[in-house]
Amino acid sequence: MTQKNIAKIMEILKQAVKDFENPIVADIGEETRSPFMVLVSCLLSLRTMDKVTAPVSRKLFAVAKTPEDISRMPIKNLQEIIRQVNYYITKSKRIKDISKILIEKHDGLVPDSFDVLMSLKGVGRKTANIVMTYGHFKSGYIAIDTHCNRIPNRLGWINTKNPNETEIEIKKILPKKYWQDFNDIFVKFGQNICKPIGPKCGACPINNYCRYYKASTNSII
Ligand code: SF4
Repeated sequence: MTQKNIAKIMEILKQAVKDFENPIVADIGEETRSPFMVLVSCLLSLRTMDKVTAPVSRKLFAVAKTPEDISRMPIKNLQEIIRQVNYYITKSKRIKDISKILIEKHDGLVPDSFDVLMSLKGVGRKTANIVMTYGHFKSGYIAIDTHCNRIPNRLGWINTKNPNETEIEIKKILPKKYWQDFNDIFVKFGQNICKPIGPKCGACPINNYCRYYKASTNSII
C-alpha cells in the first residue's frame, strides 16, 4: 500500500465519519478542553465505553477542571461522581495521586513531555499520546487504541500483534498530515462501521481497498 493510496483512503474516511458522534476527548471541545481535562477523560475512559465516559467526564468537569479542584475534593465525592466508569475506585485514587504530583512537581500543569507523562502511574502509551496530540496539540504522536490497532491490520496496511508494534509501523507509512486526526477518524470508523465483531463491509466506503474484505468475498466465491 503506497502513501498515496493511504492518503486517498484517509480522505474517504474523513468524509465518511464526519457525522458520527465524537470520541470522548473530541467531545470535550477544542476551545474548552485543557491538557488536564484530556488526561482525566482518558483515564476515565480506560476499559469503559465512550457512551458511559462522556457524561461522567462532563459531570466531573462541571465541578472540577484542574488538579487543584480535584485535590480539594474529598475522594468519596470523586468516587460518587465517576462511579459509572469501570474501576472507579482505582481511577479515583489515580486521578487524585496524579493531581497531587502535578501540583507538587509541575506547577499544577500537565507536562508536555511524553516521557514525563509516561512516568505518571496509570498513564500508558495511549493516554500519553492522546494528551500530547489532543491536549497539547503537538505533532509527532499517534495514539493507538483497539480500533487503531485492528483496522489498519484488516486493511492490510500493516501486520502487527499489538498496539505498540502498530504505533511504530503506522508512523512509517501514514503521511504526517494525517497523524493528528488518525485516532479520531479510526475510533469513529471502528465504532460505527469496521466494528470488532460484524464489520459492515457491504456498506463500507473503502471495501475496495480492504484485504479482509477481499479475502472474505473470495472465500464465499
Ligand atoms: S471492508 Fe470491512 S473490514 Fe474492511 S475496512 Fe471496511 S468494514 Fe473494515
